[in-house]
Amino acid sequence: MDRSVPGRIGTTLPPLDVPIQTLPSPELLRNELEMPEVSESELVRYFSQISQFNFSIDHNFYPLGSCTMKYNPKLNDEMAGFPGMSEIHPHQPEGTVQGALQLMYELQRILAEITGMAMTGLAPMAGAEGELAGMLMTRAYHLDRGEPGRTKVLIPDSAHGTNPASASMAGFEVVEIPSDSNGNTDIEALKFAVGNDLAGLMLTQPSTLGLFDTNITEVVQIIRNAGGILYGDGANLNALLGRVKPGELGFDVIHSNLHKTFTQPHGGGGPGAGAVMVGKRLVPYLPTPVVEKIEEPNGVARYILGKPEKTIGRMGGFHGNFGALVRAYSYIRTLGDQGIAQVSEDAVINANYIMSQLKDVYELPYERTCMHEVVLSARKLKRDYGVSALDVCKRLIDYGIHPPTMYFPLVVEDALMIEPTETESVETLDHFIDVMKKIAVEAKCNPDLLHEAPHNAPNSRLDEVAAVRRPDLRWKRSSANIQ
Ligand SMILES: *Cc1c(COP(=O)(O)O)cnc(C)c1O
Repeated sequence: MDRSVPGRIGTTLPPLDVPIQTLPSPELLRNELEMPEVSESELVRYFSQISQFNFSIDHNFYPLGSCTMKYNPKLNDEMAGFPGMSEIHPHQPEGTVQGALQLMYELQRILAEITGMAMTGLAPMAGAEGELAGMLMTRAYHLDRGEPGRTKVLIPDSAHGTNPASASMAGFEVVEIPSDSNGNTDIEALKFAVGNDLAGLMLTQPSTLGLFDTNITEVVQIIRNAGGILYGDGANLNALLGRVKPGELGFDVIHSNLHKTFTQPHGGGGPGAGAVMVGKRLVPYLPTPVVEKIEEPNGVARYILGKPEKTIGRMGGFHGNFGALVRAYSYIRTLGDQGIAQVSEDAVINANYIMSQLKDVYELPYERTCMHEVVLSARKLKRDYGVSALDVCKRLIDYGIHPPTMYFPLVVEDALMIEPTETESVETLDHFIDVMKKIAVEAKCNPDLLHEAPHNAPNSRLDEVAAVRRPDLRWKRSSANIQ
């Protein structure tokens, strides 16, 4: 910290009441590490100021597509903070954590109900880990049936990037399936790709184009007939909650990001929970543990950490991200059936409202009703004025709005993927729409304003390649990182 003054201290330690310890030998000490020397008030100001550099949903609108940055009610954090939730230890005897296990058991049941599946595994700690669990179950299933030759997983080109990574980590060969001109899975290409070596298909529904794949029944038939497993990426179930059950559509396994669809502050990459819900034939392979309920003869229920018969094993230490599970449970129970269905209605209406207001200013690649998010393209601005999706996004920062996801999905040139979520008011949406229109005018009249944006953020335009290849994350006395 540049405010450091030698000899200044920020705390007063009480007199020593333990034996003095000797330091490790000098070669183990890193004397070159300079500790900032500041007073307590300077330290508080320093951290308070840098905390304001963070952008968060508690500050402003955050339409980051596919990430579902909805408002997370504080009530759920409070529930997770109760001592009975936050101060228990995974090594405690089961008899002493019956309440926590009951909560997990009920969440398993509720998620299976919401998705129309037979059973839930709560162990995965991220969406991508849920995918990996699903792929490992797919592998175990085929091996168990004596079909080791099923080595291929088909993935549409509109899938989330984690899908091919997860399939390949589980040892499968990934085959890409193109989208057709409506943004659905291309049926002819799918038929051509299935064979005796088919392990399964991973489908994001709604797709990352924000569209409901209306070819779904045909897709299910083709994969079923070829003996494959149908995997659903339900990271964002916002558009389907209380309306469509993936299990009834024919999916064998689906994961949901509890941190997106349900609740959990997750800016900056965590923490999360990627519950996996499975149909009957995959139940024996679920990751360990699953919570089981045992009815005692005296009528009292007891909850235990169970191990599915042919489990793929653990997804990490202990039992999953328990705090995220508590929040999801609290969120779902607060909303109830009707509230959950309202979530999907509002999420879809908000996205379609933005689409209707901006489709003539930015380009709409697929002229269809969207689901919980809308993908627009900045292609026209690039062609006419040399302004890219990146420039538009950087300019949004100047207006205090978090940029949407950009350049994704890859099938749309200069994509702007906008997910308003259900928790925003019409005034906020109108403000966003106005700003997006204003930026389109600026692109025409003063493109350099956009090329050089952001102008009033703590950092100006970064060299993104250098930031990735040579990240400079350490404070050094010479640097002028933070003033
Ligand atoms: C966010 C997301 C994922 C990955 O989830 P993580 O929790 O970040 O691992 C997978 N698929 C889709 C469609 C997503 O939006």
